[in-house]
Amino acid sequence: MKKIRIAIDGPAGAGKSSVSKLVAEKMGYSYIDTGAIYRSLALLMIKKGITLEDENLIAEELRSFNISFKMDNGVNLVFLNGEDITKDIRTEEVSMLASSVSAIPFVRKGLFDIQRAYAEKGGVVMEGRDIGTVIMPQAELKIFLTASPLKRAERRLFDLRAKGVADITLEKLAEEIKKRDEQDSNREVAPLMPAADSVVVDNSDIDLKQTSEKIISLAEKIIGEFL
Ligand code: C5P
Repeated sequence: MKKIRIAIDGPAGAGKSSVSKLVAEKMGYSYIDTGAIYRSLALLMIKKGITLEDENLIAEELRSFNISFKMDNGVNLVFLNGEDITKDIRTEEVSMLASSVSAIPFVRKGLFDIQRAYAEKGGVVMEGRDIGTVIMPQAELKIFLTASPLKRAERRLFDLRAKGVADITLEKLAEEIKKRDEQDSNREVAPLMPAADSVVVDNSDIDLKQTSEKIISLAEKIIGEFL
């Protein structure tokens, strides 16, 4: 059976990670979270006190940047230079810095090869902002996953509360999501936008299972065309 490449792009909180993971699991494909790559760089900067203005230091970090993933009981573990940073990259501080640092052209260029290497293999579900447009334009299936801003903030709140984060409100999250959407959509390099040949899936009113079934049925149709 032909193994295709599935690109899933969309704004913050649209459910990309949960949906992509489920689709990958059901299809026996690997799952790559490219947001985790930008988040890892942001975390490194916070830990080392590197600011957005320190371009030479960021470039230096990019040269020795070594990220890897491991699926463990449905959890996508993220390792940076061998250290498990899965939880550390999910703070709001990291989210905002990841969005800012990812707008710098040399950063996107520096992280391009790592992502492209995953795309070469096929049998992959890769999620991010520019997967269908830049990283994997040859993907057989491209999804632009979206949901209303309120739904996205509610989902983020639910996830964070489940992780024990109490000091965050729906209003604060909605504001943060709006800011990140604006930053990600208006940057000059690889802005967030649907690829011309993508299928837009709005999952405001359907659940995770229904969303993944929709994507899997689109994938099966494409695979069927190769038979
Ligand atoms: O998907 P996630 O919210 O984890 O991504 C964090 C940030 O990384 C995004 O807000 C976006 O600015 C950036 N990103 C990107 N390109 C990708 C994936 C993420 O610019 N392919």
